Amino acid sequence: MMREADPGEVGTETQKYVRLPTFLERGFGDLANEVTAKRLCCLCGTCAAFCDKIKITEDESGKKEPRFVEDYDTVCGLCYAFCPRTFLPLAEIEWRIFGEVRAGEEGDVLGVYRNGYAVRATKGDILEKGQDGGVVTSLLAYALDEGIIDCGVITTSDDQWKPMTKVARTDDDLKAGAGTKYTLYPSVTGIREAIEEGCEKIGFVGLPCQIQGLRKVQTAEQPYDVGVNKVKLLIGLFCMENFTEDLLDFVELKCANGSLKGVSKFNIKGKELLVTEEETFSILLEDIKSYIGEGCLVCQDYTAELADISVGSVGSEDGWSTVFVRTAQGEGIVKAAAEKGYIELKELEEKGWGALRKLAKSKKESGMQRSE
Ligand SMILES: Cc1cc2nc3c(=O)[nH]c(=O)nc-3n(C[C@H](O)[C@H](O)[C@H](O)COP(=O)(O)OP(=O)(O)OC[C@H]3O[C@@H](n4cnc5c(N)ncnc54)[C@H](O)[C@@H]3O)c2cc1C
Repeated sequence: MMREADPGEVGTETQKYVRLPTFLERGFGDLANEVTAKRLCCLCGTCAAFCDKIKITEDESGKKEPRFVEDYDTVCGLCYAFCPRTFLPLAEIEWRIFGEVRAGEEGDVLGVYRNGYAVRATKGDILEKGQDGGVVTSLLAYALDEGIIDCGVITTSDDQWKPMTKVARTDDDLKAGAGTKYTLYPSVTGIREAIEEGCEKIGFVGLPCQIQGLRKVQTAEQPYDVGVNKVKLLIGLFCMENFTEDLLDFVELKCANGSLKGVSKFNIKGKELLVTEEETFSILLEDIKSYIGEGCLVCQDYTAELADISVGSVGSEDGWSTVFVRTAQGEGIVKAAAEKGYIELKELEEKGWGALRKLAKSKKESGMQRSE
């Protein structure tokens, strides 16, 4: 599960930040050459969130990617240093965030965690709106009520299921954003919005790549105050893969009225994407694999290993979510939310652990193969 790092092994007590050798040596041009041009960008939005010279824009073919909006490059290096696809000093970040590195000779495929549970919301309206156990929405609601955060940066969508970020400040905002959007979106840019709106204690929900980007920002030695100290809670979602917006056009054609307006839920179960209108229909994942984001193919993180709390569906029965508490703060929030009646939790079953380990391992292996 986890082990104490030997002193001096990957960091020392006095080493406050992860040292990034490339910092101030590489600029956006390097990011464009080494990540975007090589089609490794996962559209997490971290580069654009912390630099006002970078925007995520569409090219003529509708492909979204980060672009530099000034006509000169700088060697400030923040974007290159923060991108989860340039390099990922995992052990150093783990040491800094958790005070430990993952256990086992090859490292636990689930990362560092303190405990794993099956969890669901106790409030009926959240359970109904939530993707699985409504846990993410319940935990954010608890953290807002307790003043642990003053907003939650979440990813909601328009009536055609196109994702957008929302700075949620109320239970109603949170509920409106519940449910999974299987579409790539630079959700980390929502943190910029929250900072601009004056939030001081930000909770963020995002995919493994987005949590990796944010942890790099939090742990990098850097000369600027980019506001990341305002990010107080990271809830990560399990993710095997994500899809481009073109998937929405493909699904739309299969809907009863040729529109996604009547769709209330998308859900990936086993080898199928289930789309719920009045009736539920299914699409084989095999038939939509061409829509998987290219930058997802090299990812080796299934369970959002660097989050405070990670949440997914695999490992628990329908209507429940699987939750890993990874930091002391994450554990405290989950336990207190249960004590205060926001969620109920139980032990994960053995077969749940088995399924999680199998999927996490397979994602690591395929990501590693594709990175070679
Ligand atoms: C692209 C994607 C792939 C996933 N793949 C897996 C998987 O392979 N295996 C697995 O077990 N679980 C996977 N999940 C997680 C799962 O679908 C649920 O999100 C998770 O179980 C939480 O459910 P809940 O009922 O607790 O969350 P809810 O209470 O419904 O809250 C969901 C939260 O997720 C946020 N969110 C939704 N879509 C996105 C997005 N695209 N980017 C960032 N935030 C978003 C919402 O803002 C909301 O705050 C995936 C999620 C996504 C977004």
